[in-house]
Amino acid sequence: MMYVSTRDANEKVSASQAILKGLASDGGLFVPEEIPKLDADIETLAEMTYQQTAYAVMKQYLTDFTKEELESCIRAAYDDKFDTKEIAPLREADGACYLELFHGATIAFKDMALSILPHLMTTAARKNQVKNEIVILTATSGDTGKAALAGFAGVKGTKIIVFYPKNGVSPIQEKQMVTQKGDNTFVVGIHGNFDEAQTGVKKMFADASLAEELNAAGYQFSSANSINIGRLVPQIVYYVYAYSRLYKTGVIGSGEPINVVVPTGNFGNILAAFYAKNMGLPIAKLICASNENKVLYDFFSTGVYNKNREFILTSSPSMDILISSNLERLIYRVAGNNPAYNTQLMNRLKTDGKYEITPEMKERLSDFYGSYASESETADMIRGLYEKTGYIIDTHTAVAAAVYEKYKQETGDCGTKTVIASTASPFKFTRSVMRAIDVKYDSMSDFELADELARIGNVKIPQAIEEIRTADIRHNTVCEVQGMPDTVRKFLAI
Ligand SMILES: *Cc1c(COP(=O)(O)O)cnc(C)c1O
Repeated sequence: MMYVSTRDANEKVSASQAILKGLASDGGLFVPEEIPKLDADIETLAEMTYQQTAYAVMKQYLTDFTKEELESCIRAAYDDKFDTKEIAPLREADGACYLELFHGATIAFKDMALSILPHLMTTAARKNQVKNEIVILTATSGDTGKAALAGFAGVKGTKIIVFYPKNGVSPIQEKQMVTQKGDNTFVVGIHGNFDEAQTGVKKMFADASLAEELNAAGYQFSSANSINIGRLVPQIVYYVYAYSRLYKTGVIGSGEPINVVVPTGNFGNILAAFYAKNMGLPIAKLICASNENKVLYDFFSTGVYNKNREFILTSSPSMDILISSNLERLIYRVAGNNPAYNTQLMNRLKTDGKYEITPEMKERLSDFYGSYASESETADMIRGLYEKTGYIIDTHTAVAAAVYEKYKQETGDCGTKTVIASTASPFKFTRSVMRAIDVKYDSMSDFELADELARIGNVKIPQAIEEIRTADIRHNTVCEVQGMPDTVRKFLAI
C-alpha cells in the first residue's frame, strides 16, 4: 500500500515514509491510494481484544511494517496507561451508546492515536535509516498538545515542541501542558488563536531554509498533528472495535448498520469513521457535530467552505477551529481522487478564505449529516442527561449528543443504533460541565469542582487530574506568532 499526496499524484511514499514526513512536500496530505477492505469477518472481530483489533486494522494500512514491529508498537501504546482493559469501553445512556475514548493518559480521545504515534514514528525512522533526531512540532487547541507531550516524553531520538493559544485553552488543559515532565518536551503559549498557531507551524514545515538549518544541526521536523497518517489509522480501530462489541453483546445483528456521531474540529476523528465505513464497516450516517464555530455544518448544507467569519471561543475549545485540516482528504476523494482540482480549492481557501465544491462532489457527501449545537443547547444536554440517567458527559461529547437529538427530530431516524464518540472525560472540562449542571458551582475552585463532580457522578477522579494537583510548572515560554521560528531555534540551540 502506497500513499499519495492530495495535491500531487507523483508524490508517492510508503506508510513509514508518510508517517515520518507528516505533510507532503507540496503541502498536501498523504492518503492511501485505495482504502482497503476489512479482511476479518464480524465473528472473528467479536473475539478480538482491542490490541488484536488494532493489529487487524492497522496491518492493512501500514503494509511496510513487519508483524513484529506493528505488534510491538501496539503493545507499547495500549497498555496500563489506559485505566481500563477494554481501552475504549461503550456506555449506554438514554438510548445511545457512548464510545468512551478518554481512558488514556490525558483523559481525551487524542490519546487513542498519540499513545502509538511515537512508536510508529521511531520504528519508521529506523526502517528508513534516518540519522537526524526528530523534532515534533505541534499546534494545539488544548488536547493534542498534552496527549502528544505525554506520548513523546522520554522517547529516545525525539524532541517535541508544542504551541498553544495562551488564552484559548481551559485552565486544566494549560496546567496539564505546562507541568509536563521530560527533558525532550517544550511548551509555548502564543499571543493568538489556534488557527494562527496552526498556520505558524505549517509555515515552519514549509520553510526550506529552516529545514536546512535543522539538518545541519542533526534535526528534522515531523508532525504529530491530526494530519499525520499515523494519527488517522489508529483512529479507525475503535470504530471497528465498537461495532464488534455491539455485535458481541447482541445489541446489533450481523451486518446491521449503525450511525456514528462525532464532535468535530479538525475532521480527523470523523474521517477515521468514514475510512472505517469505506473498509466495509456497516455505518449508515456519519453525523458531523459542530459547536458555534459551524463552518462544517455550513459546508455540508451549502457546499461552500467559508472560514471568513468571527472566531468564537466556546465551552468545547478543542472544536474551536475554522480550518478543518483533515477535510482536505475528503475533498480530494469526492473530487474523484483528483489532486489538481483539490489543489485549486485549497489555494482558493488560502487566498480567499473560501471555496465551493461542484454539485457532483456535494452528492458524494450524502453519507454525512452535519449540524451544530449552541452553547445553551450543549449545557442543556449535559444537565438533561445527568438528571435523566446520572451519566455526566463533557462539553465536546455534549455537542455531539445535542446534534444527535436534532438529527433524530429532523430525520425521524430513531431506530438505527447509534454510537456517539465521547471525546473527553468530564474532568477535563470540569468548570463548564459543572456550571451546566448548576450555576451554584461557579464559586468553587477547579479542584473542589473535580471532587464534587466525582461525588455527584459517582465516579473516581482520574489519575491525570490527581497528578496535576501538586505538579510543578516547568514551562513558561510565551511568544508572538511571528516569533515562533526563533523560539524553536532557541530550544534547539541553533
Ligand atoms: C480534538 C478533539 C475533538 C475534535 O476532533 P477532530 O479529530 O479534530 O475533529 C473533539 N473533542 C475533543 C475533546 C478533542 O480533543
